[in-house]
Amino acid sequence: MKNISVIGAGTMGNGIAHVFAQNGFKVTLIDISESALQRGLSTIEKNLDRLLAKEKITEAIKLTTLTNITTSTHLADGVRQADLVVEAATENQQVKLDLFKQIDQAAPAKAILASNTSSISITQIAAATQRPSQVIGMHFMNPVPIMQLIEVIRGYSTSDETTQVIMILSQQLGKSPVEVNDYPGFVANRILMPMINEAIISLHEGVAGVEEIDTVMKLGMAHPMGPLQLADFIGLDVCLSILKVLESGFGNPKYAPCPLLTNMVTAGMLGTKSGEGFYTYTPGSKELTVSARFKK
Ligand code: NAD
Repeated sequence: MKNISVIGAGTMGNGIAHVFAQNGFKVTLIDISESALQRGLSTIEKNLDRLLAKEKITEAIKLTTLTNITTSTHLADGVRQADLVVEAATENQQVKLDLFKQIDQAAPAKAILASNTSSISITQIAAATQRPSQVIGMHFMNPVPIMQLIEVIRGYSTSDETTQVIMILSQQLGKSPVEVNDYPGFVANRILMPMINEAIISLHEGVAGVEEIDTVMKLGMAHPMGPLQLADFIGLDVCLSILKVLESGFGNPKYAPCPLLTNMVTAGMLGTKSGEGFYTYTPGSKELTVSARFKK
C-alpha cells in the first residue's frame, strides 16, 4: 500500500491523514469544504509542532509528513489512485452510503474501502458497493496521533484477506488493532456511549453538577477525563448520532439519548468544536470552565 485517500478533514480525518503521512504513505485529504481542508492542514502542522517540541519527531519528519499530504475537494479525482480509502466524513448514514457508492465507482478495483464510522453498520455500507468483501471498519480513536487503538470491524461480507491486510497495516502505523464484529456501536461505543448518556441524565435530573460528575469518574474510576468533558471532546452531535444508532439498531429504549443532549445539539452547543458544551472553550487556553448554563 502506498496511496491513501482520506475523506473528511474534520476532527478525525486530519488526524488519520497525519498518522499515515508520518509513516511514509502518500495521502490525499478530501473534503467538500476548502476551508475544512485548510483548517485540517493547520491542525496537522500544529500537532507536528507539538511532537517536535517534545522531541518525538525531527524537523525532517515534520517536513516529510507535510509534503506527503495533498488536498482535494473533488472526490472522484481524489480516490482515483488509492490503494486504500479511509472515509471519515460526517456521522450520517445517508452521507456515508452516497459516498461509498461514488468511491466504489471511482477507486481502483483492487482498493480496500474503510470507514471510520463510530456506529453505522459496515455491512450496510459494504452493500452500497460492488466490492463488499473489500469493505471494512477502521475505527481510529481521538486524538488519532496519540491514541493507540484501532477497532477493526469486520462486516458480514468482509473477507479474511481484507481483514488481515488492515490488521497488518494498522500495526505498521504503530497502532494496536483489535478485531471485532459488526453490531451496533461495535465494542467501544456500545460500552462508552451508555456511560456518557447516563452522565448527561444524571446532570439533567440534578443528581450532581458538571464538575462533580466528572470528578467522581476521574478520581473514583481512574478515568483520565470525566464523561461530560469526553462528550465535549468527541462532539455532542457525534454522541447523539451514535446513541440513535444504538437505540434503533437494538430496538431498545435503554439507549434513548437524554433530551438535554438533543437540546444542546439542536442549539448548536457541540462541545470543543463549537466552543461550548458542558464546558466553554477559549482557543489557545487549556483552562476548563463549566458552561454558564450549568453553573450553580
Ligand atoms: P467532523 O464533523 O469534525 O468532520 C467531518 C468532515 O467531513 C467535515 O469537514 C465535513 O466538511 C466533511 N464532509 C461531510 N460530508 C462530506 C462529503 N460528502 N465528502 C467529503 N467530506 C465531507 O466529524 P468527525 O468528528 O471528524 O467524525 C468523522 C467520522 O469519524 C464520523 O463517522 C465519526 O463517527 C467518526 N469518529 C469520530 C470520533 C470523534 O471523537 N469525533 C471518534 C471516532 C470516530
